[in-house]
Amino acid sequence: MARIVIAGSMNIDILSTMKRAPRAGETVNGDTVAFMPGGKGLNQAVAAAQLGGEVAFVGRLGRDAFGDQVEAFFREKGIDTGHIVRSTAQPTANAIIFVDGTAENRIVVIPAANGETSPEDVATVAIAPGDVLVSQFEIPRTTIAAFFRRGRAAGARTVLNAAPALDDAPADLWLDTDILVVNETELGHFAGASVAADAPVVQVADAARRLFRRDGQTVVATLGARGAVAVAAGGEVLVPGRPVKAVDTTGAGDCFVGALAARLAAGDALPEAMRYANVAASIAVTRVGTGTAMPTADEVAAALA
Ligand code: ATP
Repeated sequence: MARIVIAGSMNIDILSTMKRAPRAGETVNGDTVAFMPGGKGLNQAVAAAQLGGEVAFVGRLGRDAFGDQVEAFFREKGIDTGHIVRSTAQPTANAIIFVDGTAENRIVVIPAANGETSPEDVATVAIAPGDVLVSQFEIPRTTIAAFFRRGRAAGARTVLNAAPALDDAPADLWLDTDILVVNETELGHFAGASVAADAPVVQVADAARRLFRRDGQTVVATLGARGAVAVAAGGEVLVPGRPVKAVDTTGAGDCFVGALAARLAAGDALPEAMRYANVAASIAVTRVGTGTAMPTADEVAAALA
């Protein structure tokens, strides 16, 4: 079976809940704290692995207890950690999350070791024809560009989740992307036109077409509860959202990308892979958390039946 090779970010999320977040200069007592694996790369890897994919991960952790926690979590999920580098200069990345009594979030991300992920790190991982390469914008773009260039030369498919939407993307990276996955905000950012959360699908497709840089590219725009649309030169495929009672949509996009990669590696055509990913992500939004909210293959099969 083709593999999913992910170059991306890994964090330990420090999630604390409190009645009221502190103001500048103030100290408050919190209620709970939890240390949970997160980061877009990690979340996508966990989703792909739980949904039956054979996943290898490339990225950087610190030489610290948080790094040990992430590696142990990956091994538990059956993810190949052979290309994870332990940084001597930087600690493992963290997202420090405050959730107050009104469920409002305040988040600080410290990229730390993720920011050191280098072109050399992606130079030696095995890539075979048909493999699916996945990355996101939480590691340096020059590293993603080197990864995708190698992957395309080796006959692999490249899936870029252009999130979060910061800066511009290097032109060579855009050219080496086969499938670009974006939400409405990211689509608007990179297309240079704002795309509202309820924008008609024709408007979404128009914006998506602006991102094409060569023949054969597809833009997949995720539309939250409305589902997702794939836009290619030949036309669009809309997969309507699955109605569920959503309790926490954080990580929905990551679940979608991981599931999509798993199904593409298993041989599905893009529309089938999208239908599967849409159902997988609809399950993830019914649970609190990110890496720990990803569904299993049995759960998705039951929802599809
Ligand atoms: P996030 O940043 O919160 O992780 P995102 O903005 O990247 O998510 P969305 O477009 O919100 O991504 O959601 C990704 C996918 O998750 C959607 O295409 C859909 O399949 C599923 N999804 C999201 N929200 C819902 C919902 N309320 N009900 C059902 N499915 C949902």
